[in-house]
Amino acid sequence: MIPFSHTWPYDILLGDLYVQYCPFCSKENILLPMKPKELQTVRDGKKKLLVFPCCNTSLTVIDNDNDYLLFDQAVR
Ligand SMILES: [Zn+2]
Repeated sequence: MIPFSHTWPYDILLGDLYVQYCPFCSKENILLPMKPKELQTVRDGKKKLLVFPCCNTSLTVIDNDNDYLLFDQAVR
């Protein structure tokens, strides 16, 4: 069971990963330093350190599905 508090929705646009807004600083349309192909490597078990470019908050992506990233800490 995935804890909803650790999830955040993402979008893929033109080969890039976006979030509609940052859960930490609330800036909108954040381009994440992560490629869509990395979603699969995370699903395969390779964790991904992600630094939000807007506020330099870093956290680890530990899983994902078609809509959500799952982090190692709560983002809500
Ligand atoms: Zn931010």
